[in-house]
Amino acid sequence: MSEQENKRTEISTLGEFGLIDQLTAGFKNRLPQTVKGVGDDAAVLDYGGEPVIVTTDLLLEGIHFDLMYQPLKHLGYKAVIVNLSDICAMNAIPRHITVSIAVSNRFSVEALEELYAGIQAACEGYYVDLVGGDTTASPGGLMISVTAIGTAPKERITYRSGAKPGDILCVTGDLGGAYLGLQLLEREKQVYLVNPDMQPELGEKTYLLKRQLKPEACLGSVEYFKKVDLLPTAMIDISDGLASDLMHICKASNVGAFIEEAKVPIHEEARWQAMEFNLDPLTCALHGGEDYELLFTVDEKDLDKVRFMDSVYIIGEITDAADGVKLHTSEGNIHALEAQGWKHF
Ligand code: ADP
Ligand code: MG
Repeated sequence: MSEQENKRTEISTLGEFGLIDQLTAGFKNRLPQTVKGVGDDAAVLDYGGEPVIVTTDLLLEGIHFDLMYQPLKHLGYKAVIVNLSDICAMNAIPRHITVSIAVSNRFSVEALEELYAGIQAACEGYYVDLVGGDTTASPGGLMISVTAIGTAPKERITYRSGAKPGDILCVTGDLGGAYLGLQLLEREKQVYLVNPDMQPELGEKTYLLKRQLKPEACLGSVEYFKKVDLLPTAMIDISDGLASDLMHICKASNVGAFIEEAKVPIHEEARWQAMEFNLDPLTCALHGGEDYELLFTVDEKDLDKVRFMDSVYIIGEITDAADGVKLHTSEGNIHALEAQGWKHF
C-alpha cells in the first residue's frame, strides 16, 4: 500500500468549513447558468427571467435537536425556517421547499403529522409551497432535510462578498437568546433525568425558549430593503454566531471589521439568564448562534434608510483587511475577534 492510501486525516483537523473547502475545491462551475455555487448562504442560478436561489440544510436528531425538549411541531417549523433564513440572506423571497425525512418505527404516524403541522405553519406564515421531498427508513434517529428555493431580481441579490471599507455593519435583532434558550432546556433536561417527578422551571422564560425552539426568518427585512430601495453591500444570516458569520463576510469581501461591544443588542432576558448561568452575555451574543438574524453592511450614504428601519442595530464598521476583525470593548480596549461557532466534529 502506498503512503497515500495509508493516510488518514481526522475531520477535526479541518473543522466544518475546512472540510467543505477541501471536498469542493476540485469542482469548477462549468455552466453559464451557475451565477454562484458553493460558498454563500445559497446558490444563485440564472435560467433567464428572475434568478433562482437554492439552499439546503440537514437536521439530525442528537446533533441539531433533542426530542426530549423539542416538540415535533416546533422542529418542523424550525427545519423550514433555517432554510428560509438562508434565502433571505441573499435578499431573495422564498417560494418553494422540498422536505426529506428518515424515520424509524419509533415514530407514530401521529408524531410525524405533528412534524408536518409545523412545516405547514411555516409554509403558511411565509407563503411558501411544499412541492416534494423523500421519505425513507432510519435505523434509529430522526433526520430532516429541507431544500428551499427562492427568487430575486438579479440586481437585488446580495452576497457575502460585497462589503467595502467604510460600510456600516448592522444586525436585524438581538443576539445570544437562542443559545441561552438551549442552555435553559439542557439544564431542565438534566434535572428531569435525575428526578423525573421534578417540574421544569421554564414558566417565565418564554422569550428565550421561543428564540431556540421557534425562530423566524427575516423576510420583513428583505421586504423593507425593497420598499426603501436599499441594497445592502453584503449580507449573511447569523446561524453560527455573530463572530463566525462576520468572519465569513470579511473573508468573502476581503475586508476587516470592528464591532462595538456596547452596540451589540442583547435582550434583557438573555442578559439576565447569562448572569444566572455565570456566562458573559457578550460571549453568548458573539458565539451563541441560531438567532437567524441578518448581519448586513450598507454604504455610508444609506445610513438614514437604515436608521428608520424597525428593529435594526448598527454595531460596527467595515475596515481594511489588514486591520483584521476586532472588538472594541466598552472600556476602550481592542481585541481580535475569534470565530468559535458550532463544532460538531
Ligand atoms: P449556511 O450556514 O449558510 O447554511 P453552510 O456553512 O452550511 O452555510 O455552508 C457554506 C457553503 O458550503 C454553502 O454554499 C453550502 O451550500 C456549501 N456546502 C456545505 N456543505 C456542502 C457539501 N457537503 N458539499 C457541497 N457544498 C456544501
Ligand atoms: Mg446562512
